[in-house]
Amino acid sequence: MPSGTSRVTGKPSKAAKHPPRVYCPVCPDWEIKLPDRCSNTLKHGERTLYFCTKRCKERYMKNPEKFAKP
Ligand SMILES: [Zn+2]
Repeated sequence: MPSGTSRVTGKPSKAAKHPPRVYCPVCPDWEIKLPDRCSNTLKHGERTLYFCTKRCKERYMKNPEKFAKP
């Protein structure tokens, strides 16, 4: 067993710098890996929604309530 630094306090160290994951609202399994480069976006109040395809965006726009999260 290696001795030395033992700073295991149970506290998670500083959160990694991962941005929050973004998923397509129409197909929630689909992660938008590069939201910055996603061209299928829709402003929704202060949020921006990202869609994996233009079709998803169109589907969402036709029926936003169906996909809106509570
Ligand atoms: Zn989608």
